[in-house]
Order: sequence, then structure tokens, then C-alpha cells
Amino acid sequence: MKLASDARELVQRRAQGACEYCRFPQSTSILPHQVDHIIGRQHRGSDGVDNLCLCCIRCNLKKGPNIASIDPVTSAIVPLYHPRRQSWGEHFSVGSDGTMHGVTAEGRATMHLLDMNDEGRVRLRALLLRRGWHP
Ligand SMILES: [Zn+2]
Repeated sequence: MKLASDARELVQRRAQGACEYCRFPQSTSILPHQVDHIIGRQHRGSDGVDNLCLCCIRCNLKKGPNIASIDPVTSAIVPLYHPRRQSWGEHFSVGSDGTMHGVTAEGRATMHLLDMNDEGRVRLRALLLRRGWHP
């Protein structure tokens, strides 16, 4: 099923062009950011805009159809961060060196699953921070 173009536009505008998981702006990627079903269709997630977010290709490929993962600190199974229902700043923080930190179990599990601190991403995030381009 194809999403309506007005839904895509709303998702992109609402996210201000940045991935709603890693916060990388569209300008950092050759491939366009994608509209992601936060709760995948296979889990009966809807096509409604409350279940959609803007997602970079790297986060989208890592997330896949997952809706939960393991918190690396407690080993508990926890739901992934939900961009529509939760606040990014309450679940993640970013150090001046470009390293992201999970503040909550959901934040840590999402970071781990989406591999948000791989070497390339940390280096890019640090560069964006120095230039004031990382939201
Ligand atoms: Zn991302």
C-alpha cells in the first residue's frame, strides 16, 4: 500500500527534515530520508500519521519491523522509542564528542538496535555539533 503524498509531506515537515531517531538532517545523506511505520504493518500498525515518522536509511534498515529490543544495561525486553508518543530529549542525549547516550531503557535499546554510535555516525555527529547543525 502506498502512502498518500500529503501524509509524506506532513511527516517530512513535522520532522523538519531530520531523522526522528538519530536526528541526522537530510543533507547528511545521499539517499532521501524515508517515511517509517513506527509500529510496522505486520504488527497491525496503521498508515495514520500518528504511526509515521521520518527516518534516515541507516536507522530504517537497522530498525526493520522491530518494535522492541533488549536494554543493554538491564537485559530487559523493552519497547523501542516511539517518536510520536515520547520526547527525544527524555530518552537520548548527545555528548560534545558526538556520542549518543540512551537516558532510558527505551533509549538504550533503540540506540543499540539502530547502532547509533558506530564510528562513522559519531564522527559525523561531532562535525554537525561543531557547526551547529545537529538539532
Ligand atoms: Zn536516523
